[in-house]
Amino acid sequence: MQALESYLGGRWAGGRGAAHTLVNPATEAPLATASSEGLDLAAALEFARARGGPALRALSFAERGALLKAMAEALQEARDELLALGIANCGNTRSDAKFDVDGAIGTLLAYAELGESLGAARFLLDGEGLQLGRSPRFHGQHVAVPRHGVAVHVNAFNFPAWGLCEKAAPALLAGMPVLSKPATATAMLAERAMRAVVEAKVLPEGALQLLVGAPRDLPARLGAQDVLAFTGSGATGERLRALPNVVRHAVRVNVEADSLNAALLGPEVEPRSDMYELFLKDVVRDMTQKAGQKCTAIRRVLVPQALLEAVREDLVELLGAVKLGDPADEDVRMGPLTSEAQLGEVLEGAQRLGAESRQVAGGARRALERGYFFAPALFEYGLGAEANAAHEREVFGPVACLLPHDGDPSQIVARGQGGLVCSIYSEDAAWLERTVAQVAPWHGRLFLGHPKIELSPGPGTVLPQLVHGGPGRAGGGEELGGRRALNFYLQRVALEGSRPVLAALAKGAAA
Ligand code: NAP
Repeated sequence: MQALESYLGGRWAGGRGAAHTLVNPATEAPLATASSEGLDLAAALEFARARGGPALRALSFAERGALLKAMAEALQEARDELLALGIANCGNTRSDAKFDVDGAIGTLLAYAELGESLGAARFLLDGEGLQLGRSPRFHGQHVAVPRHGVAVHVNAFNFPAWGLCEKAAPALLAGMPVLSKPATATAMLAERAMRAVVEAKVLPEGALQLLVGAPRDLPARLGAQDVLAFTGSGATGERLRALPNVVRHAVRVNVEADSLNAALLGPEVEPRSDMYELFLKDVVRDMTQKAGQKCTAIRRVLVPQALLEAVREDLVELLGAVKLGDPADEDVRMGPLTSEAQLGEVLEGAQRLGAESRQVAGGARRALERGYFFAPALFEYGLGAEANAAHEREVFGPVACLLPHDGDPSQIVARGQGGLVCSIYSEDAAWLERTVAQVAPWHGRLFLGHPKIELSPGPGTVLPQLVHGGPGRAGGGEELGGRRALNFYLQRVALEGSRPVLAALAKGAAA
């Protein structure tokens, strides 16, 4: 069995002691082991700060962008192997695996392009310069410069390739070195992706390191110039934010956590119309892609009371037709959940939903004898139902709640206490305007579905140009969003002084 290794301090090394076993979730066959015990985390952090940081800061944005492009090319070379690992270790269908791996490559390329557009500069101007007093010589200018610490990235199990790259791309482009920790259950894919990058020798030493296995006390070692970007459960996010060193040194923390994303169908939409069909397609795709293990997946399906029956019947039929099985078989549409622990969580969550609603699709137990399979499940609520679990419990699997609304779904949406994305399907301009105004403050992104958009990716796809994150339950974080993503890794500084002196200093910055 393969023993996975970490890439720290410029070399590959495995941990000792008791290791975690990674399995194929469709067959439960063991595939690899991972341990981080005994690895020198303090030295790895120092290696990033002392070697990776200075090397990156010496480069221009265009040069850092070129590194990202070379990283993308290295992953492209290894793509077939990465997809195979997505199928074997993550329970992905080939299409699910492409979503992760091609998403990683596409995000690197998007930030490579941004780097090219920022050119020879090494830091950013933040806004226009301003005259500060009566003398035209007294001037102010904000700039944003790379922090001198290390960016620690802790990722969730569901996107081992994309998670690594969507966080690393803006950090490296901003000029900060990265130490990335993938979730242990699916670390095979992240480890292989890292090997591809290391073998291609595209990055300066210390710019990117990988810790495979338990995080141990890694976040507790961060200081005033470091940052921590975390994706995972709200409970872990809470613990990390409260770490004494994080509080004492004001370590910057970005949390991407749970989300009960809602899809809203407008009151004017007719069954069988193009808008209606698009809505159904997006709901079914989100429930079944990656077996529903997407932070952006639709969890709450809000429909006008008059359409409840039609939507239920259509969803039950569409979900029932999804072929479940080993994703190594090409005709399988949905694979298993990623781990036994995940199956346990989903079973428990489905039970909570079932206790307060009527289950209209799917089973209540593991769907196949072997492997962590769970059939897509839909839970229906009545108008005005209490629906506590529906608005509080993110069941991270192929599970959604169907809830009727009386024309104004915004109060129901707000009960989710903040989300990553809300999708809205309507062509009624006045209703759209009202609904957008009500739900916008609760979200990081709104997806306005329209049948005329060709090849619409649906609300579940995160794009590098747009913000990913959300308030409240979603963690309050913000990742991606083009150039905005760099801000997390940059220190904004106000310069004040003589105008010509400031102008000379600002020459090395990109506007
Ligand atoms: P989790 O248990 O919080 O784990 C997430 C990551 O944190 C893993 O890498 C885990 O490492 C690590 N971790 C656990 N305890 C830690 C600690 N004390 N210090 C430092 N790191 C620690 O979450 P999960 O259950 O695997 O992930 C599923 C959740 O992620 C879902 O709730 C989903 O909504 C959320 N998610 C959110 C987004 C988003 O962008 N908002 C995207 C994907 C997933 P080990 O694996 O080694 O335990």
